[in-house]
Amino acid sequence: MSLLNSTIEKPRLGEPFLLTPGPLTTSYAVKEAMLQDWGSWDEEFRALTAEMRKELLALTGDISDSLDCVPMQGSGSFSVEAMLGSFLPHDGKVLVLSNGAYGKRIAQTLEYLGRNHVVLDKGDYMPPRGEEVAQTIKDDPDITHVIIVHCETSSGILNPIKEISDAVKTSGRKLLVDSMSVFGAVKLDVTEIDYVAMVSSANKCIEGVPGFGFIIAKKDELEAAKGRSHSLSLDIHAQWAHMNKTGQWRFTPPTHVVVAFLEALRAHKIEGGVKGRGARYEKNRDVMVAGMRQLGFETLLNDRWLSPIIVTFFCPAHKNFDFDIFYNLLKQKGFIIYPGKLTLAESFRIGCIGQMDEHIMRNVVSAVKDTLEEMQVDSAIPPEHALIERAKLI
Ligand SMILES: *Cc1c(COP(=O)(O)O)cnc(C)c1O
Repeated sequence: MSLLNSTIEKPRLGEPFLLTPGPLTTSYAVKEAMLQDWGSWDEEFRALTAEMRKELLALTGDISDSLDCVPMQGSGSFSVEAMLGSFLPHDGKVLVLSNGAYGKRIAQTLEYLGRNHVVLDKGDYMPPRGEEVAQTIKDDPDITHVIIVHCETSSGILNPIKEISDAVKTSGRKLLVDSMSVFGAVKLDVTEIDYVAMVSSANKCIEGVPGFGFIIAKKDELEAAKGRSHSLSLDIHAQWAHMNKTGQWRFTPPTHVVVAFLEALRAHKIEGGVKGRGARYEKNRDVMVAGMRQLGFETLLNDRWLSPIIVTFFCPAHKNFDFDIFYNLLKQKGFIIYPGKLTLAESFRIGCIGQMDEHIMRNVVSAVKDTLEEMQVDSAIPPEHALIERAKLI
């Protein structure tokens, strides 16, 4: 594979590129950072935890020192559950804006927690809009909180968070954000998007390895969360209070993952922070989508809704097309793609995040071209009903 002109180093261990929304392809420096063992109690590791919290807060645009950052062990969903259990009062009611798998997971988590909620269900890929959110709140004055998935990774849609935030603010309610898959690449400035808490994780746009998530929340909300959590281990207030007092995580931290994450944060800063990272991912998306369209593929979403994180394509209607064969042939060429999650039609997804640039994305497109030829698929046009459905999305 030619990576000519690419500023990204070829994976040294010969592994394929992960065109997936995290875990993703990390740099060698990030992997290398994990070669050292650390004592969780040790002063040096405590300093690393403090540095990490500070660096993450610096990405929020918070100028009034109103926020704090609390890392939490586990995958991203653990942090979402921690956020829901810690920031929703037991007598509150939350409006879940759902347009895909992660919105559904939030509603399911609330079922487990037995917290009062209502779902505005937009199906698999329609965006929730500010107006309908305002109306829903008006019709149901019991609603105290609204939760939105910033980028719904299951379709790749970048939800209109600013208009949602404005609607929630005007209604005098509180906003929670699952910004898991975009934080660090798409601006989530707290001075523009007035959230009380948001969540993301180590293995998405900061390009670390999996092992923990982090919650960024208003300090007064952190104070108010005392004694509220349903869970001992997912109690954000307890983790926050302990960390502020001792500098340590409450239970065994993923030490290697934290050190790798700090390395990833350094690279993020060098690249130009949220702006620089976002620009590379946008370029990745634009080059990849243009190339795929040239091959005849169609995206689920119009350009307006495409995130720079991951893009859904319809599978070709051609009789020779088979996703599993397609997947395996691409894997042999060094690229791992992601299956789709649509009920509307068969689909697959290609991620734009991780240690990849536009040159690598061009290689992805040519690998797809070669694979179609091998499969003797001479047209990538999707089934007609998929295009008819898609036309309903403006
Ligand atoms: C990745 C992701 C999560 C968390 O998923 P885990 O598999 O638990 O890490 C949550 N929400 C969104 C939008 C995501 O992309």
